[in-house]
Amino acid sequence: MDYLPIFIDMRDRLVVVVGGGVVAHRKTEHLLKAHARVRVVAPELCAVLTVYRDLGRIEHRPLLFSASQLDGAALVVAATDDHAVNDAVSQAARERGVLVNVVDDAARSSFIFPAIVDRSPVIVAVGTAGASPTLARRVRTQIEALLPERLGQLAQYAGRWREAVRRALPDVPARLRFWDHFFNGPVAASVVAGNTAGADETMRRALEQARVAAAERQGEVYLIGVGPGDPDLLTLRAQQLLQQADVILHDRLVPEAILGRARRDAERINVGKSPGAHEHTQEYINRLLLEQARAGRRVARVKGGDPFIFGRGGEELQVLREAGIPVVVVPGITASLGAAASAGIPLTLRGLSQSVTLVTATGASSSSLNWNALASSQQTVVFYMSASQIDHIVSQLRAHGLDAHQPVALIERATWPEERVLKSTLAELPELARNAGLLSPTLLVVGEVAALAQVRGLVHEGVAQSARGTNGD
Ligand code: SAH
Repeated sequence: MDYLPIFIDMRDRLVVVVGGGVVAHRKTEHLLKAHARVRVVAPELCAVLTVYRDLGRIEHRPLLFSASQLDGAALVVAATDDHAVNDAVSQAARERGVLVNVVDDAARSSFIFPAIVDRSPVIVAVGTAGASPTLARRVRTQIEALLPERLGQLAQYAGRWREAVRRALPDVPARLRFWDHFFNGPVAASVVAGNTAGADETMRRALEQARVAAAERQGEVYLIGVGPGDPDLLTLRAQQLLQQADVILHDRLVPEAILGRARRDAERINVGKSPGAHEHTQEYINRLLLEQARAGRRVARVKGGDPFIFGRGGEELQVLREAGIPVVVVPGITASLGAAASAGIPLTLRGLSQSVTLVTATGASSSSLNWNALASSQQTVVFYMSASQIDHIVSQLRAHGLDAHQPVALIERATWPEERVLKSTLAELPELARNAGLLSPTLLVVGEVAALAQVRGLVHEGVAQSARGTNGD
């Protein structure tokens, strides 16, 4: 974002406009609407500005520009057709630390005027960072067509009720739901149609109903799997529930493109592990889930892949069930399915693989694995969270009789734009992994079907790539 859009209260503040022609008039008009005091510095004025001066609406200084004309200015606008003058105004303003706009010259301006749709108090401002004022005006026209003429009255009406609604519904999500209903409902429709008779009575009743509902409200939790990363792999139900949730508890690896599908005003809490930062314990997450649900909120617990595949969704479900909180579980595409699809590895295939095992060989769980079973043929084994365990996995599989030539594939960041697919054999895997400088998250696929993987991204066999960082699994 190159510019910060803000709305400034300009009432009774001095704006110096340099130039007295039609462009200066246009800007003056805007400034007067916003109740600013306008001082026009120009030897001559156009017809309208002359009238404004005579009516006392503007102060006129019939002089050539000099820096002292900017004394007391909160904003400065240079609207002459003389480059040198505009340049001098721009410099003088900047030296004084006053914001300046040079009309149609973003480079000399420290602020620019947006194109606006004015349905006061609703104001929509559109900017293109100076790239194309014409495009900004087109966008404005499109927005203008979308917004009812009486939107301003609607905003004023809502504004009159704001305090009463705040008092009746102190809980923020309940209040937001009330306003959502209000703007979609009959009262808003009649205000927009210019008919406010009976609106207050309907409003009072609706508010009372909302108050009672909020008092009785029970929260719920949606345990949502959002797939391996590509937002197009979200299920429809995941999208619907993301839209409904008041609060989102998400893991670190859930991409912004997915979180962006949640309601704009939903509160977001990152409960994921981040390297070097405080690691949230499962107990903390469980407590947070209970707390939020007990406050009557709709909580989306968002997890990569599927919540029940190495996602600790089972533990969370258990805790919530014991507390009597309603839970909806939404399955997601687990990483191995996403990775298999995008790398072109059929996880089962007649003649090559009759079964699939999803497994993790991290830490403590590794010693209790049935390596004999994992090392047998005619199957596919997918290792999660195991990029840092590759040497161990290979030596175990080989020790339990798996052939050195067994095909393997590593899929890094499956379904992400920067996905990499590497292919090798069991014996050569440790070296490949070392040289590739794997990034998190990564999956390892072991089985004949891995030979079918479509290699993608850079494969630096034999080239040390330590600069790429290591897998944080
Ligand atoms: N519940 C998740 C898994 C969480 S465990 C699921 O069903 O997919 C985290 C591990 O999943 C990572 O260490 C990695 O092995 C794997 N993983 C998750 N997303 C991945 C992706 N986009 N590409 C490759 N592996 C991924």
